[in-house]
Amino acid sequence: MTVLVVGGAGYIGSHAARVLRRHGFDVLLYDNLSTGHAALAKGFELVVGDVTETGKLADAMKRSQAVMHFAAHAYVGESVKDPRKYFRNNVEGGLALLNTALETGLRHVIFSSTCAVYGIPAQVPIGEDAPRQPVNPYGVSKLFFERALEAYDVAYGLRFASLRYFNAAGADETGETGECHDPETHLIPLALGAATEQGAPLQVFGGDYPTADGTCIRDYIHVTDLAEAHVKALEHLLGGGSSIALNLGTGRGHSVKEVITAVEAITGRPVRKQLGPRRAGDPPALVADPRRAEGVLGWKAKRSLAEIVSTAWQWLQRNHG
Ligand code: UDP
Repeated sequence: MTVLVVGGAGYIGSHAARVLRRHGFDVLLYDNLSTGHAALAKGFELVVGDVTETGKLADAMKRSQAVMHFAAHAYVGESVKDPRKYFRNNVEGGLALLNTALETGLRHVIFSSTCAVYGIPAQVPIGEDAPRQPVNPYGVSKLFFERALEAYDVAYGLRFASLRYFNAAGADETGETGECHDPETHLIPLALGAATEQGAPLQVFGGDYPTADGTCIRDYIHVTDLAEAHVKALEHLLGGGSSIALNLGTGRGHSVKEVITAVEAITGRPVRKQLGPRRAGDPPALVADPRRAEGVLGWKAKRSLAEIVSTAWQWLQRNHG
């Protein structure tokens, strides 16, 4: 069985491709390389194309029995400044993908969603039934696609898994792929960079949050754990399971200060840092309630914050060290 991984040359897609292969699936990658990297697709067949190139996409889909969709823009701040870009790619492009899947007879879609669909939650940990009220265009674009999947399930029998990620981080243990965003905005690679001579000092966004140490709390999940949940979700659908929406996190939050401590312990170097103002739109704490994913898929995140940081550190050293 062949799985089409759209956005397969990106951070999470390239990890999913490897885990799919380890589980015996054939994998075909599709990516426009706008933010993806051909190097991360090494060893896989890659079709270079955009989701809006529906002829090319249809040809790839005809060779596949299921699709995983990772091809989206994913910077919250940029989505506020340039919503058109986000609606064009994530909404219009997403619909093009969905309609092409229907037309080519694909009936199983795994979707890369986000905890940003919840906006600012009334309580943590966050369960799947919390209201979906995104507070930025990125979250709105992801929620639109979730709703389209729900409607296509009812109308056309399409089966989907909407997987709502918390903070994906870390790198594949083989060292073949890892995080390389440009610009990099995520805490762990920036904190690792700040422990090296080349990297800029880390700006800590706010020290006055209502948390134990005053810094924001997030649920960091190893990207390989995330990728494994995708494969389990696919197996659930292929086994006749109904459509699902699941939170993918560890259920455990870590503050920015705790992440810095972990980075210093693993690198053996100080993280150069400055305390700055809060970043607009950052909720104080986002932590998943991952129990539904465990119940439905028999999946649980296995890797710790230390493993996340150490694999990210190995990846950084290999690529920029
Ligand atoms: N953060 C920070 N400095 C940075 C980048 C991030 O203090 O340069 C904080 C941010 O405020 C948040 C956490 O680290 O509380 C994780 O941010 P990231 O951008 O990695 O992921 P997000 O939670 O925004 O998806």
